[in-house]
Amino acid sequence: MIRSAVYPGSFDPVTNGHLDIIERTAKIFDKVYVAILENSAKKPMFSVEQRVRWIKQATKHLDNVEVDCFSGLLVNYMEQKSAHVIVKGLRAVSDFEYEFQMAHINRKLDRNTETLFMMTNNKYSYLSSSIVKEIAHHGGSLEGLVPDFLENEIYEKIRNA
Ligand code: ADP
Repeated sequence: MIRSAVYPGSFDPVTNGHLDIIERTAKIFDKVYVAILENSAKKPMFSVEQRVRWIKQATKHLDNVEVDCFSGLLVNYMEQKSAHVIVKGLRAVSDFEYEFQMAHINRKLDRNTETLFMMTNNKYSYLSSSIVKEIAHHGGSLEGLVPDFLENEIYEKIRNA
């Protein structure tokens, strides 16, 4: 049996904190689907195509990682992929409450679903996509926060926005 995990999120944009979780998950599971949620309620800065392309490029050394997008319920996407495990990263207590609710809701919707929490690498415990956008917006350095190839691309996008 192939053991698959789904790592869902907005990844707007992907950060080194996300990539750390992806690399660690890829060591544990046979297959990892990084699934970008297309959520009409959230207003993303970068298009889904762009976000997919960036994560693909940043994970091209990991051959058991597939990058994908989905809309609607996560449990429906998981069923399509025959996956039962959701991986989430936890940075701080502030992440806990929301993730706790989501894990219970997903279990309620599909009782075979398990959510696994992976503790952030402490190097990245302060890192979020919104912080990256804020820094870029004000012209600060993104070094060490996102993959090198992405630094300029983010600046370009923000400048042209
Ligand atoms: P954000 O916009 O807060 O960065 P996402 O929706 O893109 O969040 O995050 C997807 C998942 O990645 C969530 O489980 C989130 O907790 C986790 N995550 C985000 N940043 C980090 C980080 N620096 N370290 C560990 N996990 C993280």
